[in-house]
Amino acid sequence: MGLAKGFGVTFRQMGAANRVTVPYPQQKRDKPERLHGRHVLNRYEDGMEKCIGCELCAGVCPAKCIYVRGKDNPEDHPVSPGERYGFVYEINYLRCIHCDLCVEACPTEAITETKLFEFSFANRQDAIYTKDELLVDDDGRAQRMPWEHWEGHEDTHTSAWMRATSSGGRADYENRVNWSGELGVGVRAPEQGQHAPAAPVATVATDATNAHGSDDHGQAHH
Ligand code: SF4
Ligand code: SF4
Repeated sequence: MGLAKGFGVTFRQMGAANRVTVPYPQQKRDKPERLHGRHVLNRYEDGMEKCIGCELCAGVCPAKCIYVRGKDNPEDHPVSPGERYGFVYEINYLRCIHCDLCVEACPTEAITETKLFEFSFANRQDAIYTKDELLVDDDGRAQRMPWEHWEGHEDTHTSAWMRATSSGGRADYENRVNWSGELGVGVRAPEQGQHAPAAPVATVATDATNAHGSDDHGQAHH
């Protein structure tokens, strides 16, 4: 009797409605909005590169897998709107753990992550992505390498998440557009779903922020 009862539990789980396994890769589930996939180097709407070669991403990377070299922009043909640009940029995907700390650290939103994680390499050289491979194309889309398997919006959905912390430590930045315009995309809609803390907590947080000399916009007073 106990056995039949046990099998009954099993058979109840066999209906189509209960099925959790899908035939991969013919059928893929939608990726979460904040999934961290293969990176891209973004460009502004006028085509200029966002990277200014500051090397903050390389400095913060816990896996030490980013290599950047900055260089002064040529006066007659600047690559970025800043003083400098990244003339060498490499990410070693044999080391990257997709933590997105590089994205958090980047002051210009130059480096972001797509939703692509299905890529494999036959040699170590292919695993080290160069700037030419990471830079978005003239339509603002991620370039597709032969060893990558892209689906749906994995190449367009690259920057639709807000930073985990606002610059001023404030939580109530929901619906504020933090991203600058991107080539082929424009200014992205803000991510939904973050909520300011309950009022008492918000009051404490605001007081603490002001105690450290910040105004309502999270800017520090010096
Ligand atoms: S996602 Fe993390 S590990 Fe990968 S390059 Fe960025 S900082 Fe380094
Ligand atoms: S990607 Fe961002 S953090 Fe890294 S060098 Fe370029 S501007 Fe600096």
